[in-house]
Amino acid sequence: MHTACFVDGAFVPARSGRTFAVRNPATDAEVAQVADGWLDDARAAVEAAARAFPAWKSIAAIERARHLRRLAELMHRDAERLADLCSQECGKPLAEARTEVAYAASFLEWYAEEGKRVYGETIPASDQAKRLLVLRRPCGVAAAITPWNFPIAMVTRKMGPALAAGCTQVVKPAEQTPLSALAIAALAAEAGLPAGVLNVVPGLDAASISDAFFDTLHVRHVSFTGSTEVGRILLRRSAEQVVRVSLELGGHAPFIVFDDADLDAAVAGAMASKFRNAGQTCVCANRFLVQRGIHDAFVERFTAAVAALKVGDGRADGTQVGPLIDDAGLRKAEAHVADALARGARATTGGTRARVEGCTDRFMRPTVLTGVTPAMTCFREETFGPVAPVCAFDSEGDALRLANDTPYGLAAYVFTKDGARIVRMSEELQYGIVGINDALPATAQAPFGGVKHSGLGREGGRQGIEEYLDLRYVSWRVG
Ligand code: NAP
Repeated sequence: MHTACFVDGAFVPARSGRTFAVRNPATDAEVAQVADGWLDDARAAVEAAARAFPAWKSIAAIERARHLRRLAELMHRDAERLADLCSQECGKPLAEARTEVAYAASFLEWYAEEGKRVYGETIPASDQAKRLLVLRRPCGVAAAITPWNFPIAMVTRKMGPALAAGCTQVVKPAEQTPLSALAIAALAAEAGLPAGVLNVVPGLDAASISDAFFDTLHVRHVSFTGSTEVGRILLRRSAEQVVRVSLELGGHAPFIVFDDADLDAAVAGAMASKFRNAGQTCVCANRFLVQRGIHDAFVERFTAAVAALKVGDGRADGTQVGPLIDDAGLRKAEAHVADALARGARATTGGTRARVEGCTDRFMRPTVLTGVTPAMTCFREETFGPVAPVCAFDSEGDALRLANDTPYGLAAYVFTKDGARIVRMSEELQYGIVGINDALPATAQAPFGGVKHSGLGREGGRQGIEEYLDLRYVSWRVG
């Protein structure tokens, strides 16, 4: 297991010599002591990335693609080990962690190909003595700040496009889950990635590490996935060096079920969307808006499926819902449930902590709340826990109004068979991602990101690589 900072192609201790404990949220067992990087470690990483940039941007895209593909192959080879590490760090069930490894590798595989298609343009000039060209050039060193809920995939979703574009990168992983990022760094070294192209600086003081991203002209792009609150801080800081930022922030996804929906598909979609990673995903359904005619049948089937979920240590056989990441996460989910119950909602299942033999008390019984209204906290704030609030509505207009009544705009889901309604909802929902009869829309080929307080920029798809490219206009007098 790698536990040191990865700088300039080598694992090195933090300059301060300090380390911090990474603990399994299910058991509180110490997984490892990890280097506690700080400003000077991050500056060294930025300098290494800046030194590596001229050579990396100059090699053929097809060569960069080989490195990325090789790294993806090594991730598949070591999938079981990576999944186990991921589950230990963030508590998610092993089956989900395995899916995350494959999803993470898919960003490297997809951008290995997309990097070959960074085409330029020629523009017909009005002066026949000139040729006008548009080049797309890698912007420089890219910095990435990643969250704990997808410790592997959030790294590669930023790394794939950055490295394919010809940028070099410094990654600052979440303090709860640095080991997965360091494991990727070790595989990148094995894949033959040149020193300095990828650097990873873990640490407890995220603000000091990110200072190194904003006090230099080398870093030309900062990509962040995490809370809206921290996103705002980074957006303000980006003004200092006029650096580009991509922000993948919080969400508050409505999951809308119309009377004409396929009930089986809607319930299966609700389960997949809500309870992945114990409800700790930015795109997970936060509010179930269910039309009155199908409401009772949906609640009955959904409640039965939720009550049957197996809660436990992510590494134990058959576990479907693991622990919350920490005590604060548990308290927040509990507070949302208590607020809803106090204001008249009813728990048809769950609502309390779950006892898991030999584990911490950080587990919550998967919960369905009915009779939820917009006055309740869970209707307005991201719960980030296994809590499914259900609210009945009458008309399509009501559903749209309720769904759009939030500052967030990451993902929304609609279950219906009506084609004209599908068009209207796709166009009128104020969200970056709309899943139509599809609860799991995220994929490497498509642009992922939000509007309003859910963020700026896109990751994935051909759009994702644009974030790392500068346009250069060349005016060439030929005669
Ligand atoms: P967070 O507190 O914002 O942390 C995310 C990352 O930012 C971590 O690496 C954290 O480091 C770092 N950070 C914290 N304060 C910072 C500062 N002042 N300057 C620079 N970096 C700082 O978010 P979280 O609680 O880990 O993640 C949950 C949130 O992420 C949710 O709101 C969720 O919706 C969102 N999310 C969004 C997406 C998306 O694609 N839109 C995907 C996943 C999660 P430390 O760990 O060291 O504090």
